[in-house]
Amino acid sequence: MRTVLAGDLGGTKCRFALISADFGVHGVQHVPTVRERGPFLAALERAIETILSAVPAGLERPTAAGFGTAGVIPRDGRSIEVAPNLPLDGFPLAQHVEARFGLRTTLLNDGRASAWGEFLRGHAAGRDPLLCLFFGTGIGIGLIVDGKPFAGATNAAGEIGHTTFRPGGRRCPCGGLGHFEAYCGGRAITERALAEIGPPPATAASAPSATGWTVGAVVRAAATPGPGQAAAQAILAEAEAAACALVANACTLLNPGAVVLGGGVLSGWPLLQERIVAHVPTATSRPIHRDLQFVPTLGGSDAILWGAAAATCSLWSAG
Ligand SMILES: [Zn+2]
Repeated sequence: MRTVLAGDLGGTKCRFALISADFGVHGVQHVPTVRERGPFLAALERAIETILSAVPAGLERPTAAGFGTAGVIPRDGRSIEVAPNLPLDGFPLAQHVEARFGLRTTLLNDGRASAWGEFLRGHAAGRDPLLCLFFGTGIGIGLIVDGKPFAGATNAAGEIGHTTFRPGGRRCPCGGLGHFEAYCGGRAITERALAEIGPPPATAASAPSATGWTVGAVVRAAATPGPGQAAAQAILAEAEAAACALVANACTLLNPGAVVLGGGVLSGWPLLQERIVAHVPTATSRPIHRDLQFVPTLGGSDAILWGAAAATCSLWSAG
């Protein structure tokens, strides 16, 4: 059976696997995302080597690779032009992987990869247009139109997290001011908690991020009487306002048939999803919300791997 090597390059961790034509996910390898390029690439190469050295019986060795990654990818899918959460700004990653492993390599924005995976295999399979919004370290968006991710003129469409929520407001990881991501992105929420509350309670730091905080820990701090409670509540109130406005804006702009919501912010803070679903009908016109369905996500990383594999056009394409 044919296979593709697929990767999900995330802001805190990366995941690599062999994807088979029956959507099987084999030989998963995890790599923490470190901020220095050299060690990061070395770990990435070790993960790929491990997968290629242990292709399961019955599966062909892959000839192509697809990586979903945060950031803006030029239309040729060869490099990451802007990589706010990875040490790969401007780096020709596709060329690097091809030279090292002989795998024809395609890069795809991870929001789009996720959306494609959801469209191929998820609860929203076949719903077109399909809008996927992922509240992770940053905010990923993917819009599927006519069975494929919508790219825009220069492959930069959909970065709604970097549109303005509060003019002149908080500094976004991208450098802009007042963007949605600076309020409801996971990195922004946890950095804000560190700055405004201080280090997290020891018992709350079950999966420390760079700040020691997780979104779940901020949610617990907001529910726990103490010196950090008011600040945590204020951070979450602003994050909720931003997330609700963002989803309603996206629905009005794009008129999707279904919306998939996902990402680590929502899994750490499930109430936010309920608030968003309740908010959208109050903030959009009837033709937008009348038949709109919110569909559960597949759970993230596998969808990114399937979408990244689809982007290589060698597993599920006719050719
Ligand atoms: Zn931004």
